[in-house]
Amino acid sequence: MLDQENIIEKIEGAIKKSERHIGEGEVASYIPELANVDPEGFALSIVTTGGEVYEYGDLDTVFSMQSISKIISLTMALMDNGKKVVFSKVGTEPTPYKFNSLIPIDDRASNPLINAGAITTASLIKGEDVDVRFERVMSFVKKLSESDDIKFLYKIYNSEMKTTDVNRAITYYLKSKNIFDKSVEEVLDLYIRNCSIGMKPTELARLGSVFANGGVNTKGERLVSEEIVRIVLSQMASCGMYEESGRFLMEVGFPAKSGVSGAILGIVPGRCAIVTYSPRLDESGNSVRGKHLLDLLSDDIRLNIFLHE
Ligand code: GLN
Repeated sequence: MLDQENIIEKIEGAIKKSERHIGEGEVASYIPELANVDPEGFALSIVTTGGEVYEYGDLDTVFSMQSISKIISLTMALMDNGKKVVFSKVGTEPTPYKFNSLIPIDDRASNPLINAGAITTASLIKGEDVDVRFERVMSFVKKLSESDDIKFLYKIYNSEMKTTDVNRAITYYLKSKNIFDKSVEEVLDLYIRNCSIGMKPTELARLGSVFANGGVNTKGERLVSEEIVRIVLSQMASCGMYEESGRFLMEVGFPAKSGVSGAILGIVPGRCAIVTYSPRLDESGNSVRGKHLLDLLSDDIRLNIFLHE
């Protein structure tokens, strides 16, 4: 809920202030297809736990979820296997290394929100083959976002599949550590398919609002258990912004997950989900304007979860 005075002015003021960061950062190009976007594209969508929507900018932009899909893989791995099994295969601790680094894997990935961890959680999603597993992921995403229009972005998938040697290396390494016994290619395939799920800003914000609302959607249906919501949000808070997670939590003060397509999903428990879209990224792979806008909104609407009132 965002029931406070001048809320529209506050949101619009924050957007205006974030304009000073428009030219900063670079669009991701290591997945060639990701470079084909308007670098100045911008959107903001906020969906409250009560279902109110505040939306601005290019609301028809369809972006790939990329690493934001890691929260879906984690949620489904937990639903399918329980906490004990999942956290015997992946750790819970942040890492100071890049999201696709091989360093934070010793016997297992350090957390579920870096690539190695999300490849692990993808290996735990049940279904007889990759098509069935991905079908389950898509239908869960559609349910959470209350949209049948969620897309599979084949061009993004194809482009990443052709260039994803680092993720392939990570997947082989995890297999060598007996983290899963499926084939490397099928595990990698599901991971990349999940990253290639396409949606619009408000679809993602609606998905996030279920997590902001303790796992229940605006129709009162429980889609995720309270325990899983708690796990996902705490991992987002500690690990969701990669090697900038500690600073982001200190400055902005709520759980968030970024993706290299330029989207960030922020979740303020009990209040709202916020999606920013702006494809220019910093060195860590986080959207520059997006993270500044979340910071401004946090200050101006008092969204920091560590404030006492
Ligand atoms: N698909 C991307 C990758 O594996 C996701 C990374 C990201 O969004 N940070 O490299």
